[in-house]
Amino acid sequence: MQSMKEVNLICTKCNKKFPIDQAHFRCDICNEPLELEEIKEGRIRKDNVFNQTIIERYADFFPFLDIDEDLSLGEGFTGLVESNKIAREIGIENLYFKNETQNPTWSFKDRGTIAGIQHAVKLGYKTIGTVSTGNMASSVAAYGAKANLKTYIFVYKDIADEKLNPIAIYNPRLIKVDGDYGKLYLESFKIGEENNIYFINSDVPFRIEGYKTIAFEICEQLDFDIPDYIVVPTSAGGDIRGIEKGFREFKNCGLIDKTPKIICAQASGCSPIYTAYKEKSDTVIKYENPSTIAHAIGNPTPPSGNQVLRMINWNRGTCVAVSDEEIIEAQGMLARTGIFGQPASAVPLAAVKKLREEDYIKKEERAVCIVTSTGLKYTAAFKKHNLRFEECNIKDLSKIVK
Ligand SMILES: *Cc1c(COP(=O)(O)O)cnc(C)c1O
Ligand SMILES: [Zn+2]
Repeated sequence: MQSMKEVNLICTKCNKKFPIDQAHFRCDICNEPLELEEIKEGRIRKDNVFNQTIIERYADFFPFLDIDEDLSLGEGFTGLVESNKIAREIGIENLYFKNETQNPTWSFKDRGTIAGIQHAVKLGYKTIGTVSTGNMASSVAAYGAKANLKTYIFVYKDIADEKLNPIAIYNPRLIKVDGDYGKLYLESFKIGEENNIYFINSDVPFRIEGYKTIAFEICEQLDFDIPDYIVVPTSAGGDIRGIEKGFREFKNCGLIDKTPKIICAQASGCSPIYTAYKEKSDTVIKYENPSTIAHAIGNPTPPSGNQVLRMINWNRGTCVAVSDEEIIEAQGMLARTGIFGQPASAVPLAAVKKLREEDYIKKEERAVCIVTSTGLKYTAAFKKHNLRFEECNIKDLSKIVK
């Protein structure tokens, strides 16, 4: 197939190679995730950014020889917001928030979906799908609708209507599945193979490729002056792997001279990667009885968990877990600086606060928190905050304001 460059997929554990002209997602020997070979040469296409998609601007870092612009919904190119107020409050000099709520379906998942769907369409697939608890489901449903592809969305059976409707509105084949969520991930690949459906699940190779653009944009937004830490709320482990790979590839290409330390931030109510890290284990095991307000990062069996442990090890980053109380506090702080993220998206700020208190992060260091999705996706969190308003008659208004 001549629509893709000559690169391979490679097993993240045993390095076995696989061709990229197939929908291959995991190694048939060790069952670990596959990824695209590291890019060693590339530059940024600095054309008109208003007339570019992320896949075009960073085309050298994707394996596509031609790009189907019609698949895009205008994902990426999100803001990087500095907050002096929060930085002062927690005692650090520079703190930034990568505001992924600005994406077409209000989460960073859109970056991975666009890369996955480019690949699926190149391979000739007419049907796509995903397994998700929320944000990835709406993302894949939206891009499936844009591309006019039949789209299967498998969600777990107890999903709240508040989450179901924002997926259903795009009109996919939306199926609530009763069964183990971890098994559903592998089962979907099997169903995909049997029925010619390309499942753009949480950590498939092209989704990781799309997530690299978060790192690329941060580099450009900070004039290539790399921060000390990138803090990523982590569930399946796709986003954090993509961001780390992005920095690594920019360094390979001489665009930056160092890579930041990557911090894997989890909710203590569902922290399988943090638990394995703390126990110095190289294997993540299922987290029993998970319970956290940060639903979006509540995967008890992260499919990229082992790879995240390997990556944190070579990157010299760390793992941290924060309680629901700390998450809600951070959500409020974040909102009071003008950014409304959902509980999962406040986890990085709670993590920075904690690591600063422990003096792991030093006062003069710089950190970027990834605000992965909007607070409007989970309005039930409102009742955890002490939200106030006042009332009066119009004739008393000027008195009250004085
Ligand atoms: C999916 C998601 C995450 C976690 O990303 P993974 O790739 O599964 O680790 C974090 N925050 C939000 C809001 C998400 O939707
Ligand atoms: Zn392998």
